Amino acid sequence: MNNKLKTAIVETSHCAGCEVAIADMGESLLEMLEEKIELVYAPVFMSSRDFGEVDLALIIGSVKNDHDEEKIKETREKAEILVSFGACTNFGGIYAIGDMYGKEDQLKKAYKEVPSLKDGDIPDKDIPKITDEASPVSEYVDVDYKLPGCPPPPPLIKDFLTTLLESVK
Ligand code: SF4
Repeated sequence: MNNKLKTAIVETSHCAGCEVAIADMGESLLEMLEEKIELVYAPVFMSSRDFGEVDLALIIGSVKNDHDEEKIKETREKAEILVSFGACTNFGGIYAIGDMYGKEDQLKKAYKEVPSLKDGDIPDKDIPKITDEASPVSEYVDVDYKLPGCPPPPPLIKDFLTTLLESVK
């Protein structure tokens, strides 16, 4: 591995609260970015672009549709260490609330009856196929570490990353 850990933060079905918790590490995060972590992909923090092989991937979110499944399988192939980050990723989380309703109802609410959109604004081909239930990523790929919490508290994230960085140097 390089001196800096090449890192991607990959989102599936999530609420962005986990990324806010990472940002809430504040100065500790800045120090890690300066000295130990090279963030190569993180759509919430930087402009999105594709990424190649990475040392570390933090997956944030459950698997709720075929796009999520594709994304985590691709990430597993690219990442040496894969972390299941937060309650959605570990258990299904808030997206499991949708599982109480039928798939058609969920698709209507998410893509067709959105107040800011007219029905048909999103072409059918762009609408993902939703899974039977919101699932943990570990049901689809091998996971190296699991971080609990909704979201994981910033001190826990800091301790986890510090320990991980120490163990791989
Ligand atoms: Fe949001 Fe909680 Fe899921 Fe993180 S674990 S994405 S904070 S709902």
